[in-house]
Parts: sequence; C-alpha cells; structure tokens
Amino acid sequence: MIQHHVSDDLLLEYAAGGLDEGSSLLVATHVALCTQCRRFVADAEALGGMLLEDAAPEPLRDHAAATVLSRLDAVPAPAPVAVGGDDRLPLPLRRYATEAAGAGWRLMAPGVRQLVLPTSTRSTARLIRLAPGSRVPEHTHSGRELTLVVTGAYRDAFGTFRRGDVAEHDESVVHQPTVTDDAECITLAVTDAPLRFRNPLMRLVQPILGI
Ligand code: ZN
Ligand code: ZN
Repeated sequence: MIQHHVSDDLLLEYAAGGLDEGSSLLVATHVALCTQCRRFVADAEALGGMLLEDAAPEPLRDHAAATVLSRLDAVPAPAPVAVGGDDRLPLPLRRYATEAAGAGWRLMAPGVRQLVLPTSTRSTARLIRLAPGSRVPEHTHSGRELTLVVTGAYRDAFGTFRRGDVAEHDESVVHQPTVTDDAECITLAVTDAPLRFRNPLMRLVQPILGI
C-alpha cells in the first residue's frame, strides 16, 4: 500500500509535459504502481486535451514525457537487476535500466551502489542499491531530490518508504535514509544538483561519483 505520493504540483507538471526526462521517468514509475495518481494524471490529461481542442491548432512540442513514453513502445527487456516476483522493475524503468546495465553498479558509499541511467536532461537519474541495514551518508540538497522505492524499504525522519513510495526533498531538508534490516533496498533517485554531505570523505569522493 503506497503511503507517500507524488505531489499534485509534480503530477500536473508531468501531465502537461513540463518535467525533465529524469523526473518524468520517476513520476511515470510511480504512476505505473499507484492507481490513485494514475487517475489524477488521466483526468489532468483529459482536461489538457479539452484545452487543446479549444486552442488554435499548433503542433505539440516535443517533451520529456513523450521520450519516456516512446521508450515504453519497445518490447520490455528482462530486468538487469536480480529482482523477481512482486519486486520486478516497473515497466517505465526497464528500458533505462537495461541500457545502463553495461556500465555496472559503482560503489557510492559502504553498502551503497549506484547505476546511472541514460537521460538526456540536466537532472541525473540513478538506481541506488543499498544493502540491508545500510545508511546513505547524511546529506542535504542543492536542488530538488526525488526518490522512489523500487524494492525493499528505508526509514528516515519522514517515515518508512516502501515500494512505490516517493519522497521529494530540497535544500531545507537534512536526512539520512537507513534501509530496514530484512532486505536490500533499490531506489530510483533523480537530482537536479549535487548533494551536500556532512562527511568530509564523502565530499572528497563526490566529484568522482558524480553525486
Ligand atoms: Zn500515488
Ligand atoms: Zn536526500
């Protein structure tokens, strides 16, 4: 049961095609897992369609949501990460993860590995794979950070986040997500600016890791 949804503002931007590709991918993944937000987006799109019918005809501009959707047309490739059963990669993520799989998972912090996904926009989208009980080093943000749980669960001051749950943070938030002890956790994280770590070692390796 999803507890943490994408905000209405983000859903509306998504429906209007106003989000960058990475953020679009994250919202599309949540929408694939969440009936409530799927209905909201469908209604927003229907309203947008009514507006378009009213307006003078002009070609639809290319936008990131269209890029994400066009990738869905491809035959779903097998998931490159070993997740099975209900933990399968949601459809919007599969093609991206398959394209990125060749690069391999790179160490990010003790117990934490990342796979950067190929997106064309300014924001960075990555899958982050965290061992059971591991912690993301404490950090704040220089811009917007969107996180969606793909499998497993983590906790921070904002609650427990499970499959499909989304967290949206900005520079006002300091947090340290900690994975529950029972299973590894894979998240999709989209950031539009570097994270800011307290730990001096993390600050040193940050440029190498691209986070
Ligand atoms: Zn939702
Ligand atoms: Zn964060």
